[in-house]
Amino acid sequence: MTSPAAPAVEKVISRAWGTPHSHTLAEYRKRGGYEALKKALEMAPQAVLEEVKKSNLRGRGGAGFPTGMKWSFVPKDSPKPKYLAVNGDESEPGTFKDRYILEEDPHLMLEGIAIAAWALDVHTCYVYLRGEFKFAAQRLQAAIDEAYREGIFGKKMLGKDFELNVWLVRGAGAYICGEETALLESLEGKKGWPRLKPPFPAVVGLFGCPTVVNNVETLASVPPIFQRGADWYAKLGTEKSGGTRLICLSGSVNRPGVYEISMATTLRQLIEDPDLGGGMPAGRKVKAVIPGGSSAPVLAADELDVALEFEALKVKQTMAGSGGVIVMDDRTCMVRSLWRVARFYAEESCGQCTPCREGTPWQTRLLRKIEEGRGEPEDLEMLLNVATSIAPYPPIGLGTTICALGDAAALPVHSFVARFRAEFEAHIHEKRCPFGDRPWGHFGDWA
Ligand code: SF4
Repeated sequence: MTSPAAPAVEKVISRAWGTPHSHTLAEYRKRGGYEALKKALEMAPQAVLEEVKKSNLRGRGGAGFPTGMKWSFVPKDSPKPKYLAVNGDESEPGTFKDRYILEEDPHLMLEGIAIAAWALDVHTCYVYLRGEFKFAAQRLQAAIDEAYREGIFGKKMLGKDFELNVWLVRGAGAYICGEETALLESLEGKKGWPRLKPPFPAVVGLFGCPTVVNNVETLASVPPIFQRGADWYAKLGTEKSGGTRLICLSGSVNRPGVYEISMATTLRQLIEDPDLGGGMPAGRKVKAVIPGGSSAPVLAADELDVALEFEALKVKQTMAGSGGVIVMDDRTCMVRSLWRVARFYAEESCGQCTPCREGTPWQTRLLRKIEEGRGEPEDLEMLLNVATSIAPYPPIGLGTTICALGDAAALPVHSFVARFRAEFEAHIHEKRCPFGDRPWGHFGDWA
């Protein structure tokens, strides 16, 4: 079945990608760069915040929380300094969009930082970058240096009596440091362990001070709001989510990559549109799609007519998450795929909470047993029992753990078994993987 083409969309974040020297300040200025900051500096900080609220911009890191509302939680009368921490620790499997922003157009995010700092009365910003992003780190540091040289950062922002200092900090490769409170712990020089909430970072964050943590794409979305207005930005999106979205498309499609799309685009359109995914490889059919990074509950082939938008995906008991869409075709063994996902979360659990520390390796061991043809009928119920002990489902968000990694590990188990139970049972009854044996390598005793 062919679907209509995806809705046309004006590119907001990715419009300069691939053009010569797009990462430099000179090229950014030719595109009107830092004009939005000039406009914002002529407005009162509260008016800037209200404009962001009006734009309906929602966080692009995973949770989709309204950005203006998040900013408004920072107490205005706090005697303590306030901080902005940028979450550039992009590590969710299937997600690779923030890296493109930082490599191709770092000034777009830096201008967003400057506008946010003005709105929030922040004078120090830390960009926490995934350690493996070496090239992105080089490009970003060069852009920060340019911004200092040109009087954007430093003592006087564009000549105004407002100081902003921006520091690039590289992580050491722990997925958990992308969780906002673990990120703050890591910035403080400690082990990246998530904190119990409340208190939330907006009140007690970095060094015990009010802190806003925003994702790279979220901040890169701020300058266009001031270039063209909040109403224009809001209209690009849906009723509750303003703007466009970057989607990372991977797996069994002809044209994997990062695409900026309208949030009215459906999963089917994303996969089939010749200018987006370009369809499936010859002879292959969609079997399953993960719509928002590996922690998002999987959807089956008959559920693709859903818009890639926060509310629409919530109705399907899944989530838009970090924008990582992973397409699996009819050759895919769902037990093996789930085992791979489960290994990741077991490896990345920080170990603070019992359900996550003990449950994630337990899920992994059970999945390996089933995949290798050693599973017993009761193993499937045990698997669901362990997942439920970490986080029941549905609905999403009832996790028993300190942070959402527990949910992230349990939701794939629930959703894979709910939609592909017959395949799990076939492994158990046939005492083998119906998709054939593969060499496994060594994953450690727990895997
Ligand atoms: Fe650590 Fe897992 Fe608990 Fe998160 S849920 S704090 S990763 S043990």
